Amino acid sequence: MNLFLYNTLSKEKEKFKPLKKGLFNKEEVGLYTCGPTVYNYAHIGNLRTYVFEDILKRTLKYNNYKIKHVMNITDVGHLTDDADNGEDKLEKSAQREGKTAWEIAKFYTKKFQENLHDLNIEEPDIWCRATEHIPEQIKLVQQLIDKGVTYETSDGIYFDTTKINDYGKMANLKNQNLKAGTRVKIGEKKNPHDFALWKFSQPNEKRQMEWEAFGKKGFPGWHLECSAMSMKYLGEQFDIHCGGVDHIPIHHTNEIAQSETVTNKKPWVKYWLHGEFLIIDNDKMAKSAGNFITLDTLKEKNIDPLAYRYFLLQTHYRKQLNFSWEALEAAQNGLHNLYKEILKIKKTANQLPKNKNLLKNKLETEEKLNKKNLKIFQETINNDLNTPAALSFLWHYIKDVPLLEKIKYKTILDFDKIFGLGLANIKETTQIEIPKNVQKLLKDRLVARKNKNWTESDRLRDEINKLGFNIEDTKEGQKITK
Ligand code: AMP
Ligand code: ZN
Repeated sequence: MNLFLYNTLSKEKEKFKPLKKGLFNKEEVGLYTCGPTVYNYAHIGNLRTYVFEDILKRTLKYNNYKIKHVMNITDVGHLTDDADNGEDKLEKSAQREGKTAWEIAKFYTKKFQENLHDLNIEEPDIWCRATEHIPEQIKLVQQLIDKGVTYETSDGIYFDTTKINDYGKMANLKNQNLKAGTRVKIGEKKNPHDFALWKFSQPNEKRQMEWEAFGKKGFPGWHLECSAMSMKYLGEQFDIHCGGVDHIPIHHTNEIAQSETVTNKKPWVKYWLHGEFLIIDNDKMAKSAGNFITLDTLKEKNIDPLAYRYFLLQTHYRKQLNFSWEALEAAQNGLHNLYKEILKIKKTANQLPKNKNLLKNKLETEEKLNKKNLKIFQETINNDLNTPAALSFLWHYIKDVPLLEKIKYKTILDFDKIFGLGLANIKETTQIEIPKNVQKLLKDRLVARKNKNWTESDRLRDEINKLGFNIEDTKEGQKITK
């Protein structure tokens, strides 16, 4: 069956055709997804991008492709301003928290990987850290110097974007017509879009992460790592590259410039996919804006990470999504209702006609009928990862399709290969309905516990008990059972 994906490069929905055939006629797809800058917790906006990429990966697998997935960890070189100005985010956090930059990177990498696990996001086949690929990055800069597309300023080695004629093709930057000296402050740069390949440590700056290269101490520019590491692990040409939409005009544009220059204009990546933003109060959720919410905050408020995943799946990845607590709670209720319906199906799945012949015939006929549903589902998700439509189809399938529960249950678990909502492991406790008044008491108790007001916390527990619910305080927060 055909798989269609929207390609930012062509601005069209295209039929997916991998670059190469793998062993045993299994087509192998190279996938590179830009990873986190590990100087702080990932916020739930960042995590939206990783959930979208997870859906992409699961859809490729559902279509029987074998995947090699590489994700980087940016642990050096990402400055507070995406366009090469400001401080190194890692060094800045190290100062703020009184730790080494290496400790910062290690701590937030672990936290990020825990987030992925909580959200049921499959890990990449290869994790790669920028600091562990310094020789590869130095080599790439040297190749670009040899090609004559660079120049040096007092603070680094820059890529001269006027040396290539298709710079900015994906983001259509030509039409923006930016000229040196107009509006944009460019310092010693020759052209506004020129970007740092390598930065020199400044005499007044004591960096923890720096390396000897090009005759001085310095560190790689942010875009360099993704070109160097993706080509190391996936080759000079590979299938898919992803990130959030903010990467289109700068980060990914510069990655293309570097990579296609060293390979003499070989088209580097065939399909570029970008996820839209999570918005809060009409603004992009961003670490720098200070309006960000983490997955831990959701957990503290008794929101299951999978409910956040369900919330995300209700909107197509190329549409902006507005975050609100009300919408998230509604999604959590929706997920619990889904669990409840599936548990009912699971319970009756084994109640089958006793007559063996009758059963065999019925199963065969219904399996045939069910093929149509499997086809609709796959067509839906293959239409540029249309998760909202696929979820609607799941609900329709559960509610309106008259088939043996045994077949339905098996099919629902098959659909969950895409959704990743843990539908095979629903526990009775996850689907209990918590009345509004109990929810309120739980929230109050959370506040009491935060304020270390144990008397109030105990009083609220008694009140909740009287309403027929038990609470257990766990690492993940208050667990409630009936
Ligand atoms: P960073 O850790 O800042 O390098 O960002 C990690 C990923 O999150 C990148 O792919 C960004 O494009 C993406 N991202 C950043 N902010 C948002 C947001 N508000 N909504 C969705 N994705 C985002
Ligand atoms: Zn990248």
